[in-house]
Amino acid sequence: MENTIIIGSGMAGLTAAIYTARANLEPLLLTGNELGGQIATTTEVENFPGFPEGLQGPELYELLQKQAERFGARIEIDEVTEVTFGDPIHRVKTHSGEYETKSIIIATGASPKKLGIPGEAELLGRGVSYCATCDGFFFRGKNLMVVGGGDSAIQEGLFLTKFANKVDIVHRRDQLRAGAVLQERARQNDKMGYIWNSVLQRIEGDGQVQSVVLEDLRTGETRQQPVDGIFVYVGHYPNTQLFQGKLQMDDQNYLIIDQNMMTSVPGVFAAGEVHDHTYRQAISSAGFGSMAAISTERYLANLEHRLARVETW
Ligand code: NAP
Repeated sequence: MENTIIIGSGMAGLTAAIYTARANLEPLLLTGNELGGQIATTTEVENFPGFPEGLQGPELYELLQKQAERFGARIEIDEVTEVTFGDPIHRVKTHSGEYETKSIIIATGASPKKLGIPGEAELLGRGVSYCATCDGFFFRGKNLMVVGGGDSAIQEGLFLTKFANKVDIVHRRDQLRAGAVLQERARQNDKMGYIWNSVLQRIEGDGQVQSVVLEDLRTGETRQQPVDGIFVYVGHYPNTQLFQGKLQMDDQNYLIIDQNMMTSVPGVFAAGEVHDHTYRQAISSAGFGSMAAISTERYLANLEHRLARVETW
C-alpha cells in the first residue's frame, strides 16, 4: 500500500515528490513516457528564480530529480495505463505492475497541439518537429519555419538560429503573443523573419519536408514556399485522457480542482498544466506541485485519524 503515487515527472510532479518525500510519505513517482515533461525539452530557462545566469531545461530536470531522490522519493520509469478511484483506496495500473494507494497526485501536464494539416503526421521526424532541443541540431545551415506567436515559438525560434540559416515565424495574426524581452531579442536577430497573418495549409515533401503551402488570411491567397523544416509551437492540450468520465473537467478537458488542489475525488490531487491553463510557467507548476503535496500530507493525516476512529468503534 502506497501513501501517495505521483503521476508525471515534470516540474509539478518532481516538486510534489520533493515535498512529500520530505514529509516522510515515501512517494512513488511514475514518470510516464515523456521523462521530465515539457521542461526537459525546453532550451534556455531564464526566469526560474535562483538561477541568475539561466540554465538548460534538461539540467533543471536533473537537479529536481536528484533533490527528490535525496529525500527518498522512488522514481520509476513506467507509464500508467489505468486508474480506478475508490474510497479511500485507489488502484493504479502501469505497464509493469499494479499498485494500491491512499492518495494520488496527478501531474501529467500538457502536450503540444498539432496543426492537423495534411503532411504533418506523414513527415513527423522527417522535417516536422515539436521539439527544437531534440531536433534543432539536424538543421545546420537549413531554412526553417516556426509556427506560432507565443513565448515558445519565439524562444525556440531563437534557439534554432544557432543552427539554421534562416528561421521564419509563421503567425496567424500581425502581433506576437510572446513577452517583450523575447520579442526584442528576436528583433535583434538577423536570422529571424516573419510571415504575418498566415497559416500553413499543408506540408509537402517526398520522404522529407521540401515545401509548405501558406495561406494569407487577409486575402485568402495561397502560395507554395520551399522550406527544410517546420517546428510547431501552437499551444498545448492537457493530458487527461486517462481520467475521462472519472474526474470533473472543464470544457477544454483541464481537471477541475478546489482550493486545496483536490479533484472531484477525495484523496486525488492535481498539480501543474493538467489543471492550469492560465499561468503555465515552470515556477508556477513547481508551486502547484508543492501545494498539492502539502494538501496530500494533510489529507493523509486526516485519513489515518478517521481510520483509527473506525477501528476503535
Ligand atoms: P501560447 O502562449 O498558447 O501560444 C500559442 C501560439 O500559437 C499563439 O500565438 C496562437 O496564436 C498560436 N496558435 C494557436 N493555435 C494555432 C493554430 N491552429 N494555427 C496557428 N497558430 C496557432 O503557447 P506557448 O507559446 O507554448 O506558451 C505556453 C505557456 O508557456 C505560456 O503561458 C507562456 O508564457 C509559457 N512560456 C514561457 C516562456 C518564457 O517565459 N520564457 C517560454 C515558453 C513558454 P494567437 O496569438 O493568435 O492566439
